[in-house]
Amino acid sequence: MWKVEDGMWKSGIFVPMDFQRRPTRIVNIGGVPLGGHYPIRVQTMTNLPTADIKGQVQQIIRAADAGAEYVRITVPTLKDVEHLDRIKKKLTGSRNTKSLVTRHSSLITHHSSLVTHHSSLIPPLIADVHFSPKIAMEAAKVAAKVRINPGNLLAQGKRKKEKGKREEERLFLELMHETLRPLLEVCRENGTALRIGTNHGSLSERILDRYGDTPEGMVQATLEAVRICQAENFHDLVLSLKSSNVKVMVEATRLLVKRMDEEGMDYPIHLGVTEAGEGEDGRLKSAVGIGSLLVDGIGDTIRVSLTEDPEHEIPVAYGILQASRARITRTEYISCPGCGRTTFKLQEAVKKVKEATAHLAGLKIAVMGCIVNGPGEMADADYGYVGAGPGKVHIYKGNTAVAKNVDEEDAVIELTRIINESVVE
Ligand code: SF4
Repeated sequence: MWKVEDGMWKSGIFVPMDFQRRPTRIVNIGGVPLGGHYPIRVQTMTNLPTADIKGQVQQIIRAADAGAEYVRITVPTLKDVEHLDRIKKKLTGSRNTKSLVTRHSSLITHHSSLVTHHSSLIPPLIADVHFSPKIAMEAAKVAAKVRINPGNLLAQGKRKKEKGKREEERLFLELMHETLRPLLEVCRENGTALRIGTNHGSLSERILDRYGDTPEGMVQATLEAVRICQAENFHDLVLSLKSSNVKVMVEATRLLVKRMDEEGMDYPIHLGVTEAGEGEDGRLKSAVGIGSLLVDGIGDTIRVSLTEDPEHEIPVAYGILQASRARITRTEYISCPGCGRTTFKLQEAVKKVKEATAHLAGLKIAVMGCIVNGPGEMADADYGYVGAGPGKVHIYKGNTAVAKNVDEEDAVIELTRIINESVVE
């Protein structure tokens, strides 16, 4: 069980002590705050045409029911801003007043384990905009957050190459500033946040000329836009550096954080591996990329990008958060692979223990094959089910064997009895 000394409660989430999250500022996104001490938020993106209002609404509801805390929708045309508005209104009308209150409550279960309950019934909508500052501005009047890509925000044709690189750079930044200023004003007026989302695959020619197709280029492209926002005193920002290459994504994000630290910036970070794929491939790539950074303490919201329906992304996201101990939502199991020392049906036992204890979110339960190495290897487990000899099991509470040589057939019942007894204590 997560004990008080293992960590602390912060706004409805239990943060394990061994998890040092990078401090970031809090950015409000449609009433669901991001960053700071708030839980690492889970988001997804719809994959239907924006004009398919009914389909969009159904997808968003399915994603929300799966636990999505924000949902992003592509907005490729001005007409789609109207579609976005209709989607938002339909969503609002689709659920009763009570459900309009986004709930991010924490549960304290009967055994006082500390877990986060995610139940965002109408998640704030995020508009995904490329190429057009005008669309971004209109979308900012409707969405809770707008994502822009600095690599394609300015029309390439407006660049003035003939004046030499340094002059070109200055003119480009001036133009970027002129472009962002009115967008930031609309965001400010409407309480809309902005994500500066740089993608490895869509760096501008200027950045490619100067830095190549590199993490450094991704960082520079992002920071140029951030500095303009800072100059305009706009700080409701979220940053992301994405790539389908996990190593590039991880390296670029670490570099961004380093540069931000050097410049005293504390903006929250969105993590994701783009075009991760589907099935096991997509899940593994996302787990490696997102998980590596979470373990570093980097990341305030994540999106697992799968070539599947959006609601499929959510359980994977929560799985990555749990595995990296960044956000605890279920029981944690520790079990050994078994070897020649195992003298009981280990795989069967793991299955039975899981069935009996899956509701005890926040507990850490070990199932180990032998008492020679098991007790030492089960690390910080709260309870242990450890093979003691042919057909016999010791039950541990912490490091102490509290029931010895229990018959294998009775061991799961004995384990749950001991857990329940501890709860009553
Ligand atoms: Fe083998 Fe014991 Fe290690 Fe399990 S804990 S792998 S049974 S030595």
